[in-house]
Amino acid sequence: MKFPNNITDKRLKIIAQKVYSNTLVDFDDAVYMLNTNDILELGTIADFIRTRLHKNKTFYGVNMNLNYTNICELRCPLCAFSCDKEDKKAYLFSIEEIKKKVREAVDFGIDEIHIVGGLHPELKLEYFEEMLKTIKEIKPDINIVAFTAVEYYYFAQKNSISIEDVFKRLIKAGLDTLPGGGAEIFAPDVRKIIAPKKISGEQWLEVMYLAHNMGLKTNATMLYNHKESIEDIADHMQKLRNLQDKTNGFKTFVPLQFHSENTQITTRRSTTGFDDIRIYATARIFLSNIPHIKALWMYVGDKMAQVLQKFGVDDIGATYHNEKVVHAAGAKTPDYGTEQFLKRLITTAGFVPERTTASYNQTKRPGR
Ligand code: SF4
Repeated sequence: MKFPNNITDKRLKIIAQKVYSNTLVDFDDAVYMLNTNDILELGTIADFIRTRLHKNKTFYGVNMNLNYTNICELRCPLCAFSCDKEDKKAYLFSIEEIKKKVREAVDFGIDEIHIVGGLHPELKLEYFEEMLKTIKEIKPDINIVAFTAVEYYYFAQKNSISIEDVFKRLIKAGLDTLPGGGAEIFAPDVRKIIAPKKISGEQWLEVMYLAHNMGLKTNATMLYNHKESIEDIADHMQKLRNLQDKTNGFKTFVPLQFHSENTQITTRRSTTGFDDIRIYATARIFLSNIPHIKALWMYVGDKMAQVLQKFGVDDIGATYHNEKVVHAAGAKTPDYGTEQFLKRLITTAGFVPERTTASYNQTKRPGR
């Protein structure tokens, strides 16, 4: 593949040369990229890596979101979705209700179900086992991407068993892949403000390490646009890259733009297009050992998701039938995009759409 030699910015030229010679870019390079206004040159480098990995394909999915409860013990300041049990908007889906919702979505043609919820103190692991078994009975080949590292940590504590045992039981019930939520930003001083009761960054990484060791593939997220600094973003990516070097278990990195409406966090301001582009392109360049960079169209907006395909992004997310979490925080995108709509965002940017799931159609199941 021809290396772009039209980079004029001195520091970006050095970064480009590192990329071309398969030398890792370092923390200071990441900070530089996250500050540059030269987004076209940054995009040239990110696009070089994206094309080397995925040619002209962009991935998307046809899935449903299942947010089984909004009752949560932690009530993180960053969260607009959770509430107390007594709250008027509190809900908890029974297995029967879940069955009905999944049947409807399966009839509609989904390949995947994405499950996350609040930390509900009365739910035992048996509820989650039954949930996954029921879903697999409805559609045995559906990809179940379920529960954040925060939920696994909580399940282990509540059921007085190890995290490995939680994984073993849920894999047996039908778990395929893990989403990457709950990572937020690893920097302890910021985490203390946005999610003080949530597991620490180290604990999140530990759960992922255990998952990867059991053969589970996972995503990794990063929440930006709240109280974090550029250095916190570079540090977050550095920690993910270090773990990936050991386990190779991350499939996808998903930066998530924070939406502050109905939360207790006031953002400095909404992100600019340049901010979003710098973050995704830097992620593509810095996280060279993670195969996919995903921009969820529902978070960044459909127009930005389309543009980001030229800045390192190779996956724009899925149809997300029934999404509740980001909409509780004021996302302005519709809570449902058709397959046709996603394909159009891809083809009209000159890419070729490829329908997939969070396991990128890997056929071998964990633990099998
Ligand atoms: S972010 Fe997650 S853990 Fe925190 S309050 Fe919301 S649902 Fe609960």
